[in-house]
Amino acid sequence: MSKRRLFVTTALPYANGNFHIGHIMEYIQADIWVRFQRMQGNEVHFVCADDAHGAPIMIAAEKAGKTPQQFVADIASGRKPYLDGFHIAFDNWHNTDAPENHELAQDIYRDLRDAGFIATKTIEQFFDPEKNMFLPDRFIKGECPKCGAKDQYGDSCEVCGSVYAPTEVKNPYSALSGATPVMKSSEHYFFKLSDPRAIAFLEQWTADAGRLQPEVLNKIKEWFAIDEDGNGGLSDWDISRDAPYFGIEIPDAPGKYFYVWLDAPIGYLASLKNHFSKTGGDFDAFMADPATEQYHFIGKDITYFHTLFWPAMLHFSGRKTPNAVFVHGFLTVSGEKMSKSRGTGLDPLKYLNLGMNPQWLRYYIAAKLNGRNEDVDFNPDDFMARVNSDLVGKYINIASRSAGFLAKRFDGKLSASSEDGAALLAAMQAALKPVTQLYEDRDYARALRDIMALTDNVNAYVEANKPWELVKQVGQEDRLQDVCSTCIQAFRLLTLALKPVLPQLAEQVEAFLNCPPMVFADLHTLLPNGHAIGSYQHLVQRVDVKQLDALFEVPEMAQEVAQALPAPGGEDMADTITIDDFAKVDLRVALIQHCEAVEGSTKLLRLTLDVGEAQTRNVFSGIASAYKPEELIGQYTLMVANLAPRKMKFGISEGMVLAGSHADEKANPGIYIMTAWPGATPGMRVR
Ligand SMILES: [Zn+2]
Repeated sequence: MSKRRLFVTTALPYANGNFHIGHIMEYIQADIWVRFQRMQGNEVHFVCADDAHGAPIMIAAEKAGKTPQQFVADIASGRKPYLDGFHIAFDNWHNTDAPENHELAQDIYRDLRDAGFIATKTIEQFFDPEKNMFLPDRFIKGECPKCGAKDQYGDSCEVCGSVYAPTEVKNPYSALSGATPVMKSSEHYFFKLSDPRAIAFLEQWTADAGRLQPEVLNKIKEWFAIDEDGNGGLSDWDISRDAPYFGIEIPDAPGKYFYVWLDAPIGYLASLKNHFSKTGGDFDAFMADPATEQYHFIGKDITYFHTLFWPAMLHFSGRKTPNAVFVHGFLTVSGEKMSKSRGTGLDPLKYLNLGMNPQWLRYYIAAKLNGRNEDVDFNPDDFMARVNSDLVGKYINIASRSAGFLAKRFDGKLSASSEDGAALLAAMQAALKPVTQLYEDRDYARALRDIMALTDNVNAYVEANKPWELVKQVGQEDRLQDVCSTCIQAFRLLTLALKPVLPQLAEQVEAFLNCPPMVFADLHTLLPNGHAIGSYQHLVQRVDVKQLDALFEVPEMAQEVAQALPAPGGEDMADTITIDDFAKVDLRVALIQHCEAVEGSTKLLRLTLDVGEAQTRNVFSGIASAYKPEELIGQYTLMVANLAPRKMKFGISEGMVLAGSHADEKANPGIYIMTAWPGATPGMRVR
């Protein structure tokens, strides 16, 4: 097969904040695919950039007392620890305010204009009378015109995925000042997406085989659909914004700038062009070559921009369109949409700073990604189980059980496998062949399932042959070397298959096995008879539950725990507070409706509390040493009702029950839960 030439991107992160776990998930998904393609011998250019423009950055920079350029540069300077930390190897990282992007955006605009795809229209637009500026879409909030969801942005709905004009939003308000915006007119530039040529092109383009995932295409068909009343269908896209705006000037329109979403995807091309300018590649020739393949990894929330606007802009400006757009879902934590205040945020930098292995996360995310546009759930228990029992217990174990014998007894030298071992290896090679197609299809979940199934076969072979017993038996030296050699050959094949997911580990294994960097073509080969491997060093640690607890602990709680360390003989009085400070703590009378022991914990009880709300609260309390669950059911107690919910190993704790104890609990044991006099009812505030 001839070498393919690929141009791969992830979505450009908006440069107004650090990466969150959703970015990292997408980058890991794309990075695995890119590494796989390279291991197939293909040429890949994998680029990204900071999305630098737009009113939100202009406003945030102003608040921070910086120019927008400085603001974006400061954000960009924080990117590297995340990317290096999770082994995400972009070839180039650029930004959309760079000269290449100004030039490309203006060129594409001129080409679209000359092809008759640009129109101007005077429109009435929301203007913030307090801030004295036209309001950017993201600074208008209100109800979605399509589904009625509240607090949606002025350009698109996070609930139903619709994209619309800000003027269509119901009950709008300015997110900058809270003022009700007024209408003011201005001339705007539009990209004519409703042009019959654009519609015909896009209906064909989106339906082309392999272009989009079936579930994504179904969604797009809804956007094309026009109902009996003539509503729906594609409308023209407003691509201009009035000064003041941080962006790229429209060539023939002083005081008008491209809307950030026009130049953002062009940033893919600008980053590639910048990459080629550093590496000596020819950008124009590369993009003009029909054999060049172009792929974008994106989240489902930006499907409209990438499957309609973007290909239409490229096509009608005479440029190459993407071969495919790969859409993924969102990342949830324990089934919930992420929220830092609820303690469900998974902070990627905190993950790294806690010393957690980035390859655990790569492995876990890969094990959950199936190539479809579905949400992915990070479940801490499942994470620990998959890493500890599959990755370490099944796979790493194969090397750790066999390498020592080879090093000690045979100078690390491999012998040829006898019949049973050779059969095992041949079966593995055959079974691993289809894994390449699974990687190509981004069905990493299935790939890892199939690879892990093979580790079971190898471990069964180890159990059947028991090298730790062979070593004690006279005359079994050859058999011992044969069995251990087979295990090492098997370990190499498995590592090769896992290499796109676990690149650093594969590198360590290559050093340990004394073999050159592995590619998929090596799947057909084995290490030669007599090949000497190096000494084995432990490759991956297990996940420690304490690390997971620390990862999900909200920072405020971590501080409280640190401050609550016992002082000898009781504790000093805390600093004086005002009545206003006290009023911040919302104490409520709570009825303990139910109470039960927590499996796996000797300290905690799980309380179900009625605090007069529509729903009961779930609270974990470290009082199991002092009370039996049945003693507490039906009792009244006091709780801190406005404490930020805390994610614990056993679930989310939605508050804290008050109890008294000595600062030195070991010397002065006893925990005494607070209770209320008869007559108090659930939900009464304590003041
Ligand atoms: Zn909606």
